[in-house]
Amino acid sequence: MRARVLHVPDRPSWECQHCRAAWPCQPAREDIVATTDRVSRMIYLSLHLADAIVDQRDADPAALFDRVVGWACNS
Ligand SMILES: [Zn+2]
Repeated sequence: MRARVLHVPDRPSWECQHCRAAWPCQPAREDIVATTDRVSRMIYLSLHLADAIVDQRDADPAALFDRVVGWACNS
């Protein structure tokens, strides 16, 4: 059995702990879509957005929304 690799955010950088891409990286997005329904996904990502806004005080909140939550709005 292959060990599952977790693509989770590293705080406060919000890079993926595994692949160092901006989180959610593509593997994280695919995992989130595969393992959550739409409502759970939006709640999960919104909670992460709140943490990201705290950690990335100089970032544009709209850009953080697009990156953390926006991609999932139509998935
Ligand atoms: Zn990753």
